Amino acid sequence: MKLASVALFLTLVAFVYARELELAEPCDEDICKAPMCRCSSVDIPGGLAPRDTPQFVTLTFDDAITVSNVPTYRSLLYNRRNRNNCPIGATFFLAHEYTDYILVNELYNRGFEIALHSISHKADQEYWRDASYETLMLEIGDQKRQVAHFANIPINSIHGLRSPFLQMSGNTTYQMMSSAGLTYDLSWPTIEYTDPGLWPYTLHYQSIQDCIIPPCPTASLPGPWIIPMISWSDLQGVPCSMVDTCYYNPGPDNEEGWFNLILKNFERHYLKNRAPFGFYIHEWYVNINPGLHRALIRFLDMINNLNDVFMVNANEVIDWVKNPIPVDQYASRQCKSWTPTQCTQTACNAITANHTEKIYYLNVCTNCPNEYPWLNNPLGE
Ligand SMILES: [Zn+2]
Repeated sequence: MKLASVALFLTLVAFVYARELELAEPCDEDICKAPMCRCSSVDIPGGLAPRDTPQFVTLTFDDAITVSNVPTYRSLLYNRRNRNNCPIGATFFLAHEYTDYILVNELYNRGFEIALHSISHKADQEYWRDASYETLMLEIGDQKRQVAHFANIPINSIHGLRSPFLQMSGNTTYQMMSSAGLTYDLSWPTIEYTDPGLWPYTLHYQSIQDCIIPPCPTASLPGPWIIPMISWSDLQGVPCSMVDTCYYNPGPDNEEGWFNLILKNFERHYLKNRAPFGFYIHEWYVNINPGLHRALIRFLDMINNLNDVFMVNANEVIDWVKNPIPVDQYASRQCKSWTPTQCTQTACNAITANHTEKIYYLNVCTNCPNEYPWLNNPLGE
């Protein structure tokens, strides 16, 4: 009896600590099953053959959405459809500073995905590497409320995270994501699992993914999904996780060179295991490379004419991986839907900030805040 109580006590202690952080174990595919769990693997979800698998393409843009970069987004993305006639998707990882929330509302209402990239976007790699749970809640958790508020978009339309400078903070990042109710992270590069590519997975069990920018998670962290950033190969075969970091590139005006580079990287996915193909870029890079800009339009025109390729919001990739269906079935589904929202356009001129001497001009879909919204005061109350 006494022994039993001691055993029970020890079990309880173990349980309490386990709730804190339990080291992840090797993945067991018999236990870890869709829709809630998936082992890190290059296997196609649902055991589908490559030819039956939709090739997803996720085009993403990072940082503030402003009057200077929105013309590029409009011209590249608006009125573009996939081959099955459904509107395309793209994902914006939004940084708060300088963002024009009227434009965020516009992009949301065009069916694009608004995701998180922090309030401060502080230019300090160590700040993000060492960030505590509390710091990440202020930077990311609060940003979710902030975007929903100022852009007047549904808070449950916000699912994704890209850590600034792709610098995660190990387990802490994913603990924060669970608390903040986020579905997926799109910050973790792989150079090892590019051919064939690593499919999205969860962190219930140990990840096989290479850790390019440590610290990477070590604990069992049920909840969030990882969409691996499958690196491209540049002209010399050097890996690059964002297109704008491809060092050996065709140069600013070489449309043909860029088109061939994009195509070569796309084919590594499309002709193999069809792991989602990421096109991760900043608008400024498209803007200073007219050859790339033209090549990108050509590439999008091409894939929008292929009946097994779909440009989607990153969140739609997770939906499919949770419930994989063959491409013919996927193509004939109803198109995605979203709740349209209004924007009462308000220009807030010359708002002072608490964290700096700067004066800001802020466009919102709500009343003007009292001060410039920032960490610890995400709604500027
Ligand atoms: Zn950024």
